[in-house]
Amino acid sequence: MKKILALHTGGTISMSASNDTVKTNEQNPLLDSQFINENIDLVNEVILNKPSEHITPDDMLIIKKRVKKAIDEKECDGIVITHGTDTLEETAYFLDLTIENTIPVVLTGAMRSSNELGSDGVYNFQSAILTAASDEASGKGVLVVMNDEIHTARFVTKTHTTNVNTFRTPTFGPLGIVYKRDIRFFQALINQHVCDIDHLEKGVYLIKAYAGIPKEIFEIMNRPETKGIVIEGLGAGNLPVEVVEPIQALIDNDITVVMVSRCYNGLAEPIYDYAGGGIDLERMGVVFCQGLNGQKARLKLQVAVSGGMNSKDIAKYMRDAVS
Ligand code: ASP
Repeated sequence: MKKILALHTGGTISMSASNDTVKTNEQNPLLDSQFINENIDLVNEVILNKPSEHITPDDMLIIKKRVKKAIDEKECDGIVITHGTDTLEETAYFLDLTIENTIPVVLTGAMRSSNELGSDGVYNFQSAILTAASDEASGKGVLVVMNDEIHTARFVTKTHTTNVNTFRTPTFGPLGIVYKRDIRFFQALINQHVCDIDHLEKGVYLIKAYAGIPKEIFEIMNRPETKGIVIEGLGAGNLPVEVVEPIQALIDNDITVVMVSRCYNGLAEPIYDYAGGGIDLERMGVVFCQGLNGQKARLKLQVAVSGGMNSKDIAKYMRDAVS
């Protein structure tokens, strides 16, 4: 018998629709769902009831502390967290960065609320519970289970506003699949660097680059409150020449500047050697972060700053593609 702790935080999976609008419920309908499996003892706990746009990094820290307590006190064999899909990938990745993965931790959500035709909530919840109860699911980092696919929190992203097949892992693909009767993994995860923080620093921002981005955006960021900036750069990690000077000024002020790509697929990598090209930026001290999207790199940088790392260690931590 496996004991699974389900922590509910809100999101469409817990909401209902009426007259084409979707609203939060006082009582989470998942608590009434019949999950029948004689080998699983399911314990439900509501820890938040928020649409995921209202989830902050401080809420992620609350979820992290509850998960860590359950692991440390051996309360269960696996944990499922239900969450709104809009920021699900960020909470999942935050937990991946901050918790040692000794038992399965699985996030899930739904694209259709509990009373909509073709609602995917109970099905995804059930798939997540089965994954959390699987022996093979531990040691693979925090997982995201949606629409019969198992993804690593590190690389999964929401790709569609409404389609139930919205969660994808660009470049690398999912780690496994939920079959009718079984859970199958066909990829492992390269090791993890856990940063067990107990508070969060602010002042870490994300900027998306675009053709003609004005230098004033970077000049405004150059202030004592700013601890770090992630830039979603163009292509492999390049920027318009106009912003090179203010970025150098940020770096000179000991503000970490991290580069990821705004492309959906592929890795940021310094290749071009001209003003604003990746090689020029790296020479200036911009840190290239491989494989993460902007929102995840920003969280990772916030975790690094909150963990008290010095600039050299932050650069190494951010550069390392697998942690
Ligand atoms: N807006 C909703 C949320 O993130 C979307 C969802 O859960 O699917 O809370």
